[in-house]
Formats: sequence, structure tokens, C-alpha cells
Amino acid sequence: METTEVVIAGAGPTGLMLACELRLAGIEVALLDGLPERTGESRAGGIHARTMEIFDQRGLLDRLVTQGHPLQAGHFGALPLNFADFDTRYPHLLAVLQSVIERELEGRANELGLAVRWGSPVVGFEQDATGVDVEIGGPDGPRRIRAAYLVGCDGGRSAVRKLAGIDFAGTAATMTGMLADVELAEPPAEQFFGRRRGGGDFSVVQFQPGWYRLVVQRHDLILERGSQLSFEDFRAHFTEIAGTDFGMHSPRWVTHYGDAARQADRYRDGRVFLAGDAAHIHYPAGGQGLNLGVQDAVNLGWKLATTLRGNVSDALLDTYETERHPVGARVLHNTRAQTALGRPGPHMDALRDTMSDLIDLDEVRRRLGFMITALDIRYDTKGAHPLAGRRVPDVDLTTTEGTTRVCELLRTARPILLRLNRNQTHTGTGWHDRLTVVDARSHTTHWTLPGIGAIPTPTALLIRPDGYTAWATNTPHDPTLPEALTTWLGPSR
Ligand SMILES: Cc1cc2nc3c(=O)[nH]c(=O)nc-3n(C[C@H](O)[C@H](O)[C@H](O)COP(=O)(O)OP(=O)(O)OC[C@H]3O[C@@H](n4cnc5c(N)ncnc54)[C@H](O)[C@@H]3O)c2cc1C
Repeated sequence: METTEVVIAGAGPTGLMLACELRLAGIEVALLDGLPERTGESRAGGIHARTMEIFDQRGLLDRLVTQGHPLQAGHFGALPLNFADFDTRYPHLLAVLQSVIERELEGRANELGLAVRWGSPVVGFEQDATGVDVEIGGPDGPRRIRAAYLVGCDGGRSAVRKLAGIDFAGTAATMTGMLADVELAEPPAEQFFGRRRGGGDFSVVQFQPGWYRLVVQRHDLILERGSQLSFEDFRAHFTEIAGTDFGMHSPRWVTHYGDAARQADRYRDGRVFLAGDAAHIHYPAGGQGLNLGVQDAVNLGWKLATTLRGNVSDALLDTYETERHPVGARVLHNTRAQTALGRPGPHMDALRDTMSDLIDLDEVRRRLGFMITALDIRYDTKGAHPLAGRRVPDVDLTTTEGTTRVCELLRTARPILLRLNRNQTHTGTGWHDRLTVVDARSHTTHWTLPGIGAIPTPTALLIRPDGYTAWATNTPHDPTLPEALTTWLGPSR
């Protein structure tokens, strides 16, 4: 029987990102997908600030920036949220198609020596104390691979989740969104806008010159999941709500989706994990799903790699669920609020007007925006330092080798002990095989954290491979570092 270290079911954005993270750490991976080949369809049309930072950390952002464009199109329930003053290098959305993200991630996986195995659906598995036997169906007949871990990144209808018997509780659909990627004979003057009208609302986004995504949402209709929506049916729904069809023609893709919001009650069952849409589904309000999946993958990747290299207790893997489940739950919660705000009628018009006035207040706009962009995530991490468990801001630094910044230091996905401004905190030699020590000068006396504000520049911090703070201090010699190193990297050797 073939053996590998990790089997990933699903080569969507989540599975691809996880595969890249594991390969970067030198882990053997089998990346399986049930489809015969990539569809080229794009559900998502953009990524948010935290995901841009994460792609930047791995040197992947430049590839996407050249194929997309920055857009100030953030919103909460279609009420505009401007991100321009956010404390990040990327205070905007990057409009880039999901198909482009998938192609670039697949290209990166190929560079790291991994090819997607198409036509290879996971159809079963059995786990024991030392590994998982994964059963693969598809045209090449049944096969089995033995791995240490299996990760289900196989989308909302995840076979891995169902086979593991993990409950997917939540709320059923109350409305329907329909989209068509089309050309327009009579395009509107604006490149990006939305309107409430009649029993729903509609929006128009110009993706590329001549090519538009039209979306119509109806709260008086629930289309059955998996049922077909023809282009002519879409045109009829759109025209009824928008009052025009803008001369739509030449459809490239027509689909529909609902606002069912469900989350796996566990992200881990022994040696089996769930990530991305396999672990959570929700309405695409605010454009958060792909972002959430990529961030799941980056949280899980280094933990699997560290555990596989035998360095650390299995409890590290439990932190994947304790850290990422609340983040997913919060997204489900905010998308429910956003779909509720989309309901038609005078009462909802009044509530929207009230919300709109509130969003004009900077504190409200920033609070909602930090949530949608995921810049304010704080994982439950030991330590009272304001950075503990938060993302490390991408600050400029000077080392003996020249100027750099935090995202650049994270390219190799190794944990970093960053000692700032001549701090001499030392680790002993017991972790040096697993840790990069960087001495640098920070250009500022304060760092700004979304939702927190300015904090004094720390004297030293331990940065996890996913860019979050494992430990930070403001004192010259902090004795708590070895404990943090043991927790996150394993015992001294
Ligand atoms: C209309 C719409 C617009 C959206 N817009 C945005 C947006 O702007 N921003 C955003 O962040 N998100 C957006 N999303 C959500 C985003 O598209 C999803 O969250 C994202 O695709 C999830 O990625 P994934 O890799 O987890 O799952 P998927 O993309 O669903 O990939 C799962 C993969 O698993 C494979 N698979 C399935 N079963 C098996 C099996 N048994 N074995 C092996 N492989 C299997 C599938 O073939 C597929 O390739 C949108 C969604 C919709 C519907």
C-alpha cells in the first residue's frame, strides 16, 4: 500500500494552501480531488487584508496582485465599509478571481514538488492509533493510501466530515442568491454598485473590461440546493428585481446559493481534521469564506508539520480547533446578521438607515471592518502582553543584512525569535534547530494593532509560522520564554 504523511481531500483554495504549507515544511503529501480536472469557475472574487498578509508571508501575494486590482468595496450587509485607514499594508480588498488564486496556489504546490491527483475522490477511511487508511474511488478503481493524518478540505458537502460522523449543525436557508457572469450590451455607468428594490436587491460588479458579475438576491424564494438555474430564469429574476437586464448576454457561469449557515461541531476526530468549507458554510456576505479556509489551512499546516517531526505533544493539534472554531462561528454569526439586514420592507429599511448612521461613526466602521478583514483575531494564548495571540503587524525592520519586514521574515514558515533594539533574550541552544533568531531594529517606538491602538514596541517576540504571536515581552530578560518555546516548538534538545 502507498504511504505518505498527510492525505488532503480536496484541491480547492483550502486544500491547496494546506498542501503548500506542508510541502514548505518538507512533509510528504497526497493531494486528492474527486473532479476530473479544475472547473475554472470562480465563486469568490476577492480577498481581504489578513489573507493578503498571509499570502505575502509566503511570497505569493505578488503573483495575485498582478492579476487583480485593489478595490474599496468592503461592506456589511451591503452598507459600505471603507478600510482605507486600517493599520495594515493592505487597507482594501484585492479583487482577484478564485480561479486565479487556485491556479497560482496549484503552481506553487507544483514548484514544491506536488501535483494534484484529479479523479481521486476520498470515499472512505479507517483510523487506528498510528495512522489512517484512506480509501480512494474514481475511474482508476479503488486504491488505499496510508497516512499519519487525513484532512478533509472537500467543501461544504464534505465526504470526510460525513464519514467521520461529525455533526454539521446550524440554520437552514431562508433566501436565495443568484449570480451570472455575463457581458452587457447596455452596461451601467458605475463599475460596482448594489440597490435594494422590490422583494430583494441586486448588484453589478465589473470584473474585467466587458465582463460583469450580476447578482440578484430574493428573500421570497428558496431554490433547492443542487437544482439548475437557467440563464433565462436568471434574466427573469434579475429583471424583476432590477427593472432592467442591462442587455445581458453570453453567460459564462450561472449559479445559485442559499444562506444556510452550518459549522462542524468538531474540527478534529483523532487523526482526521476538517478545514475550509468542509468545516463551515455560510452566505457569501462580505466575501469571507475563501479567506476563512486559507487561514484555517495556515493555522493547521505548521502544527501538523511540527507534530509530524516528533517535536511537540499532540495537544498542539488540539489548538487548531480551539483557535479556529470560534473564528468560524463568528463569521457564521456576522453573515446571519448581514442576510437579515438584506430583508425587504419598511421596518428593515429603517433598521438599515439606523445601521448606516452608526457605520458613519469611525469606531463602529472600524470594529465591523476589523472583523470582516480578520485583522482583529486574537487566539487564546498564554500571557498578558497585548500582542499575545494576535497577528504580528508587518512592521519595517533593519538587520545587519539590511532592511526587511515581518512578512518577509516568514517566507520559510519557520518560527522566529525576533529580538529588537539590542535585546539579548536568549533561548539556550536547545531549540536552535527549530527556530530562526533574528536581531533587528524596529523603525518606530510604537506598533499599532487593529482594535487595540498603539502599543510600545516589544523588546522580543516569538512569532509562529502563521504570523501570530506565541510570546512577547517588553523587558530585557524575560524568564518565561523557555516555557513558551516548549509549548509551541516542543522540549529543548
Ligand atoms: C457566490 C459565491 C461568492 C463567493 N465569494 C467569496 C468572496 O468574494 N470571498 C471569499 O472569501 N469567499 C467567497 N465565497 C466562498 C468561497 O468560494 C468558498 O468559501 C471557498 O471556495 C472554500 O474553499 P474550500 O477549498 O474550502 O472548498 P471548495 O472550494 O468547495 O473546494 C473543495 C474541493 O474538494 C473537492 N472534493 C469534494 N469532495 C471530495 C472528495 N470526496 N474527495 C476529494 N475531493 C473532493 C471538490 O472537487 C473541490 O475541488 C463565495 C461563495 C459563493 C457561493
